[in-house]
Amino acid sequence: MHILVTNDDGVFAPGLLAMANELRKIGKVTIVAPDHNWSASGHVKTLSRPLRAKEVILPDGSTALACDGAPSDCVALVCLGLLPEAVDIVVSGINPNANLGHDVTYSGTVTAAMEAAIWNLPGIAVSLDAPEYHSGPLDYSTAAIVAAHVTEVISRKKLPEQTLLNVNVPYCTIDQIKGYQITRQGLRVYRDELVRREDPRGRPYYWIGGDAPTGVPEDGTDVGALTRCYVSITPLTLDLTSHAFKKELETWSF
Ligand code: MN
Repeated sequence: MHILVTNDDGVFAPGLLAMANELRKIGKVTIVAPDHNWSASGHVKTLSRPLRAKEVILPDGSTALACDGAPSDCVALVCLGLLPEAVDIVVSGINPNANLGHDVTYSGTVTAAMEAAIWNLPGIAVSLDAPEYHSGPLDYSTAAIVAAHVTEVISRKKLPEQTLLNVNVPYCTIDQIKGYQITRQGLRVYRDELVRREDPRGRPYYWIGGDAPTGVPEDGTDVGALTRCYVSITPLTLDLTSHAFKKELETWSF
């Protein structure tokens, strides 16, 4: 099995290396990841400028390709034939913070896996629910083991078309994990605030500020699973059609 590893935090992010090293135990790993942080960049396709990919050496001496495009560009380049050998599966992460509920539309980690689904490859996004204001290096070991386990299972099964997996891992030791829960997207509670400031020339500028998001820990959801110390696996589909509302919309006159 040839595994493409990518992320949205940049090729030198510790979560990527932790996951790549665990995945090397179950397959051949090639890393193609952005050369800088693209967190919360959404699903990107770079068409207005050239893309470059250059070989870099990671802290453990292994090599990777650093690309100046978005995470989804990295996946697209590989699917279009960047590498001498085709890949069988795309695993994105490990993102340091959870991607829950509506986060999936912002997340570069998840949209890299979405790009894989567009190319009919199995895509898995892996995020760690680390404390928002953690200081010092994070421990990615549990999430890396989980990532390899999920990848191994998916390599034996076959994901349906247009489908990807969004995996979120509680921040604890592997022994403290209660198990795996198949979940649906929960509800994020964003606490964004508009921060208005002035530049030295008197012109206003804005930040999307405020506190980190929380979530509604409802049973059966990604948020709920993490709260109860379970790994959350949410199957996502690229078909965003609201099938429930479509029926009602058909009764409206246009
Ligand atoms: Mn990120």
